[in-house]
Formats: sequence, structure tokens, C-alpha cells
Amino acid sequence: MSKVSKGVLGMANYDTVIGLEIHVALLTDSKFLCSCSTAFGAPPNSQCCPVCLGLPGSLPTINEKAVECATKAGLALNCQINLFSKFDRKNYFYPDLPKAYQITQDAYPLCSRGFLDYYVDDQLVRTEITRIHMEEEAGKLIHSGSSIVSSDYSLVDYNRAGIALIEIVTAPDIHHPGQARLFVEQLRLLLSYIGVSDTKMEEGSLRVDANISLKPKDSDLLGTKVEIKNLNSFRALEKALEYEVSRQGEILDQGGTIRQESRTWDDRAGRTMSMRSKGDAPDYRLFPEPDLPPLCLEPAWVESIRASIPELPLERLGRLEEQFGLSRYEATFFVHYPDFCQIFFDLAEYDLSPKAIVNFLMGDYARLARERGHLDARRIAGLLTIVKEGLIGANQEGVVLDALFSSEKSAREIVKEQGLEALRDSTELQGVVDGVLTANPDLVARFRSGESKLLGYFVGQVMRATRGKADPEVVNKLLEEALS
Ligand SMILES: [Zn+2]
Repeated sequence: MSKVSKGVLGMANYDTVIGLEIHVALLTDSKFLCSCSTAFGAPPNSQCCPVCLGLPGSLPTINEKAVECATKAGLALNCQINLFSKFDRKNYFYPDLPKAYQITQDAYPLCSRGFLDYYVDDQLVRTEITRIHMEEEAGKLIHSGSSIVSSDYSLVDYNRAGIALIEIVTAPDIHHPGQARLFVEQLRLLLSYIGVSDTKMEEGSLRVDANISLKPKDSDLLGTKVEIKNLNSFRALEKALEYEVSRQGEILDQGGTIRQESRTWDDRAGRTMSMRSKGDAPDYRLFPEPDLPPLCLEPAWVESIRASIPELPLERLGRLEEQFGLSRYEATFFVHYPDFCQIFFDLAEYDLSPKAIVNFLMGDYARLARERGHLDARRIAGLLTIVKEGLIGANQEGVVLDALFSSEKSAREIVKEQGLEALRDSTELQGVVDGVLTANPDLVARFRSGESKLLGYFVGQVMRATRGKADPEVVNKLLEEALS
């Protein structure tokens, strides 16, 4: 639903080439290679053991649930699942990495060659997924100051160390910052549909590294790429990429060359900053993990995971449009809010038009449900049915809706108790109409001499006298007869 920004400034001479690496924390109760809890928000270092602290002599064991989540993600992203995959050690020193190496998958990843289809404006586009591999999360540094540079000391919390991650790597086939954002939005939605991650970017469950380069228009030669690390919001992703498009474009316009390097995004300053150049890049000395056997999957097990995948966002969008005739905008709303979508499907079982259901759910109901939780579909259906039957006027719908939220009664009971039935008995209404006209002789005269817009005023007075219950159609008819 977000707006797409395509070009930045006058970068008309270059094509933008973007590839993404997305780290996703998997939704498992225990960590990847030990049985420590993964619950968020526990006191620092209360969820660690010899394995995730890398104490000598401890041995890792693979969490089957993590492999299941990773496989499910691979299948939902149309990947080939490799029945044989292996683990490696990626060696580097940093205080948040107690073993001084990270267990990951290098040459033999779990999933390869997939894709994700998504809409950019009204165009269905595809981004290739090169690979998805499994790895473990690092710990978390907490600096005493506002940044590592300005801090006297830093503390480290290993609760996160060893949580199961997948890294999803795309091909460099994303063409502008807005598209990168839409891709990650769609990916995040898909991962939440299949339940493999809570995908909370603000808690670090989903983080993006972006590679970006510019190349002269229509050239086959790729430019030098820059990597922007750890983008943890959609906004940061799009802004950082936009900034890089301008920065690299300006350098190239002036005949300069782009330095291959890693950069970070400074949200407050609104710019990317150099972290390290290629020359400073660590040599990870990857080698096979000796403490874990290769991961060998049974085809039948993979098929059982495939069978557990629910309807995915793009399929659901198509079904809402084709089967129920929803507009793209409406269908997108329901795809993004699965709880509302479930109520839509439940209501569609009743004898109600999809249009009436959509207008209701996306109207005042959406606001009330967000504040107070959803109503039972059966009670909503009761309200929509009496509106359809004409038992109450449109202007009483909100009154009944409020009452539905604050009581257990049915719509019909509420209408009866509060006497909200629409007034359409001509004899009864005639008296009210006559009363209004008798009380306003001057206005009646002005109406008769041509001020036809005064009709609205008379209608309003009748509605007021009947506390909004009069049927506007009958009132209009009676007034026109009386005034002619
Ligand atoms: Zn542990």
C-alpha cells in the first residue's frame, strides 16, 4: 500500500541495481543448537548455557523445529529444498560472538533458486531468491553512551546468541528503492502468513542488508557495489537506498569511482556512512563445522511441510478479487489484515453482498475493532441483515454497532429494546411533517417562491423530531406532496 518512489534527483543516466540479504529470526521456543529459551525481554544473560556461550567441551544439537521453519520458508518462496546441506564455521572476533565463530551454511545451503512475485504499482514483478541458508544469531551489545565511539564501556547480553536465523539472499534484480521496500513488505507478510517468524523489525527479528550499485543506462557491465548494513525499518531501507542512488550518481557524474565498501545508515543525519572498505573486509576462514553432521532430509518430510503451507498473500489477493469482486485496494486491505479477512470470509457465508460486507468492515467497524477487539461474525451478520431488510435506517446502524460492542445482545434485540425501527408509516410521519411546516410558515413561503434548497432543512427537522428514525425516502415524498 506504500507509495513507490522511482527516481531520485536527476539520475537519469544510470540504472540502479539492488540486491538484498534479509536476516530473519525463526519462531522457535528454543535456540538453534541448544535448548535455551528464545523469549524476548528476559533479564540479560538469563537464557544462556555452555553451548550458546561457546564453553570448551560443549556440543551443539540441531533444533528440528528450526529446520522445519527454514524449509517452510524455502517452499513458500518457491525454492528448491536441498535434501543434503552442510554447516560451516565463519570465524571472526567480536564481543557479541562468544565462540569467535558463527555456525552458518556456506557452500551447501538448505534452499536455492526460488522467487517471490509481488505488485509494484499495478505491475506483477518477480525477484529471484538466490539462496536461503540457516545460521545462528549473535548476542547484543549495550553501550553506556549513545554510540560505541562515545561510550566508556559496553555490556553484552547473550540471550539472543544462538537463536536460529535464516538469511534470504536475492539476485540483484531490484531496480529502485521503492521496489526494495515493496519486496521486503511482501516477504514479511508471507513469512507471517506461514508463521515461521514474528517478523518484528523493531525487535530485530527481521533485518536487511542492501547491496546497491549504479551502471550506465543500457550497459551490461555492473558498477561497483556498496553494502548498507542492518537496515531495521522499511523507512530506513528506502531512505538509505535513495541516499546511495544520489551519492553514487554524483560521484559518477563528476568522473569519480565508487569505493567498494560497507556503509551504515545514520537515521538522524539522514545519510549513509563508511564502515569499512573492501581492503579491511575480514577473512572469515570458512571451514566445515566438525561438531555437526550434514543435514539430510527425507523427501516425505519435506512434502509434509509443503502440505502445511496455508494460502499465501498473493493467492489470497487473487481470490478476493476474482471470487468476491473486491477492488485491488479493498483486497490489499484484507490481505494485510488477516484477522479482518477471516471475518470477511465468515460473513461471506451469510446471504449478504460482498460489497456490503466490505463497506461495513472497512468503515467505522475497523476503528472500533482495533480499539475493542473483533465482534463475533454471527452478530455482525445479524446487523447487516436487518440493514438489508430495511428494519433500521442507515443512520441507526452506528447506534446498533456501538451497542453490539458494549453488550452481548443481538442486533435485533438491541433494535427492539431501544425502539430503533425505521419509521416509514405514512400516517404517523404525515403528522410530523405537518408539524414542521406549520412551525415554519416563513420558510415554507420562501420555498414556494423558489428557494428549493430549503427542502433539506425540512427533511432535517423531521429527522430530528423522529430521532433519526424516519425513512428519508418517505419523508421526502411526504414533504414534496405537502409543499407542492
Ligand atoms: Zn544455550
